[in-house]
Amino acid sequence: MTTARFDTLLVANRGEIACRVMRTARRMGLRTVAVYSDADANARHVREADEAVRIGPAAARDSYLNIEAVVEAARRSGAGAIHPGYGFLSENGAFVEALDAAGIVFVGPPAAAIAAMGDKSAAKARMANAGVPLVPGYHGHDQDDVLLRREADKIGYPVLLKASAGGGGKGMRVVESSADFQAALDSCRRESRAAFGDDRMLIEKYLIQPRHVEVQVFCDRHGNGVYLFERDCSVQRRHQKVLEEAPAPGMTAELRREMGDAAVRAAQEIGYVGAGTVEFLLDASGAFYFMEMNTRLQVEHPVTEMITGQDLVEWQLRVAMGEALPCTQDELTISGHSFEARLYAEDPDQDFLPATGTLARFAMDLEGAGLDPQRVRLDSGVESGDVVSMHYDPMLAKLIAHGDDRDQALATLNRALAALDVQGVVTNRAFLQRLATHPAFKAAELDTRFIERHHATLF
Ligand code: ADP
Repeated sequence: MTTARFDTLLVANRGEIACRVMRTARRMGLRTVAVYSDADANARHVREADEAVRIGPAAARDSYLNIEAVVEAARRSGAGAIHPGYGFLSENGAFVEALDAAGIVFVGPPAAAIAAMGDKSAAKARMANAGVPLVPGYHGHDQDDVLLRREADKIGYPVLLKASAGGGGKGMRVVESSADFQAALDSCRRESRAAFGDDRMLIEKYLIQPRHVEVQVFCDRHGNGVYLFERDCSVQRRHQKVLEEAPAPGMTAELRREMGDAAVRAAQEIGYVGAGTVEFLLDASGAFYFMEMNTRLQVEHPVTEMITGQDLVEWQLRVAMGEALPCTQDELTISGHSFEARLYAEDPDQDFLPATGTLARFAMDLEGAGLDPQRVRLDSGVESGDVVSMHYDPMLAKLIAHGDDRDQALATLNRALAALDVQGVVTNRAFLQRLATHPAFKAAELDTRFIERHHATLF
């Protein structure tokens, strides 16, 4: 794996995360290079970069997922390092190997660490070794249908079938009884083959009302590892996060330390370097179980930045240059509370159908709304006049709020949501407002079925 100082950073991504990474790179005095597809020739991330290189046509597989084109763009622009953002090539071991071969620094973990976590079954076996608690279940090699059903019967229903190679909620199904097992298995296998070219499954006990609590970890090349506390991402729609917050409500200092230590142990078990997130399910009794590790910067990293006062992209770049972590565990503290809401170009009234169009206006008047710019952050990939196409993820921006405590942070989030002026493209803003003002959300009655349970009052 290549480690070296660099003065030019290529960001192999688009949208809000490309803009956000370049913001820190610029502040650190680095020259920034954007890459773009034909659909993004005039996108915000291209306008903001010092240099921009075209890497192919609109389809992601021909541009943002094209390893050769991205490596060639780095060579041509003299970039010494590549930040992958999230999605696209961020968790692609072959990409990291290609960069190693080209002598370009990858701002992320070694290929071997990505591989260790890329397969959910293999990852669970490694985590069991490291003494990280797992959801009871089966993650073995033997994939015989009859054996899988027998394992499911042993675990006890309901169980959750999951694609070993899975991600993004695909190839996942709850099975209520032994009689339903075979049909569910067939359909999960089909979905997983189509999405990942792999139909191996694992089975987990389906926890009834868990919370999704994840721990931000960071490791350097000198054997140091720390956790930057947790985020609660229980509010999900179809297993995808909608609202996130840090810290997780109701955590005791002891549970926070236990989960943090387990997360650092998980990272060190696989020789991790850089920013990573260890996802856990937390049940009402305070028991927590490893779900998976995401080997990249997460969409929701800003809430952690807000409560710790740290810039995680700066940490990533420093670690990639071979520096030691900027802080020890004891130097990290939590200050206040933070929320993030994901603004999507989609129509909640039409089953969240992605929306397209030209953003006649995209702005937020903080002063006019009496909001403190220290407490509100809009991480956006678009500006007024930009075109929203159907080629990529429909997330337009993230609205992040901070307060001295949870109530204050939530009040600020709601005022900021109201102050957002979006015209020309349908968004989920009103849905986010209904969520963020919901009495049960205000009362922090959180679990991963929140939206389902409150369907009647949210739609
Ligand atoms: P993906 O990688 O496809 O996102 P995950 O394994 O991260 O899948 O799970 C996504 C979501 O599914 C979790 O955040 C949680 O809401 C739910 N989930 C996963 N495993 C379980 C389980 N054993 N019991 C209950 N809910 C689960």
